[in-house]
Amino acid sequence: RAKALKRNTWQRYTAALGEESRERFDIEVGLRRALERNELQLYFQPQAFVDGGRVFGAEALIRWVSQEGETIMPERFIPLAEESGLSHALGRWVLDVACHHARRWEQRGLDLQVAVNLSGAQVVNGDIVGDVRRALQESGLSPERLELEITEGFLINHADEGVGVLHELRELGVMLAVDDFGTGYSSLAYLKRLPVQRLKIDQSFIRDVPGDADDEIIVAAILSMAGRLGLEVVAEGVELPVQLDFLAGQGCERYQGFLLSRPVPAEVFDRRWGGGAELCDPVPSR
Ligand code: C2E
Ligand code: MG
Ligand code: MG
Ligand code: MG
Repeated sequence: RAKALKRNTWQRYTAALGEESRERFDIEVGLRRALERNELQLYFQPQAFVDGGRVFGAEALIRWVSQEGETIMPERFIPLAEESGLSHALGRWVLDVACHHARRWEQRGLDLQVAVNLSGAQVVNGDIVGDVRRALQESGLSPERLELEITEGFLINHADEGVGVLHELRELGVMLAVDDFGTGYSSLAYLKRLPVQRLKIDQSFIRDVPGDADDEIIVAAILSMAGRLGLEVVAEGVELPVQLDFLAGQGCERYQGFLLSRPVPAEVFDRRWGGGAELCDPVPSR
């Protein structure tokens, strides 16, 4: 009986493994094609001031719309892209498209930043400094309008390899933000060494405020520490008015989340916040 049980478990295990590696292979081949065939889309999610609600920026979030019309979310393919060496080409594409849109907003006289997520592989192996410099040059975007987000997990594990690159990026004039802040469960010493200007409080801490006493304390502590270190804070994952009220009460200045908007295609962002609507059908002036 024991043997039979063991064999069954093993069979189930290998079957699952086969399925998983097949899916990985499909995704990898598909992703390579997607890059060539323009199946990737960049969505934008607005970021706003808690007080007054002015939209000051947009986070660029990648989507893959397959030929079958299925929208594949980044968490399913970004890790694979990293393993298969595709994250450099992918990352360059994201930078180029994001800077292109941000430059349009800038030319329309809007005060909008664009935030781009960097993957660890881009920072450690690629020529991220060259990629960013080129994206800025080719688009004509002012460097201070580009923000690069790097996860706290990466910064903690790769502080030594990353620190030089981050200083070089900072010297280009772009802003640097720590993404998913608070999830790294580690020392905060890296904050002293790295030229970052902004922390993005991970959405897991926002979900249960107000109400969860621990999360309330953590959010308050992050805000107080950031304030003393001279860092700006963006609260991520704000879905409810009570969460926004809580953040306002804690003195948090910036937020992002479904309450304001889900990530939307570039054309939609452009119409709602990017000055695109006024250009298409001008409001008659008095
Ligand atoms: P992230 O950078 O932390 O992005 C925030 C994620 O939270 C996004 O998921 C966004 O849609 C989601 N989100 C925003 N507001 C809310 C909210 O109020 N509630 C909830 N439940 N979720 C919210 P998304 O677009 O699926 O992206 C997931 C992750 O994939 C990103 O996390 C980022 O790490 C990665 N990613 C996305 N685009 C890129 C990219 O172009 N390059 C790289 N390297 N990574 C990317
Ligand atoms: Mg991010
Ligand atoms: Mg995040
Ligand atoms: Mg995240």
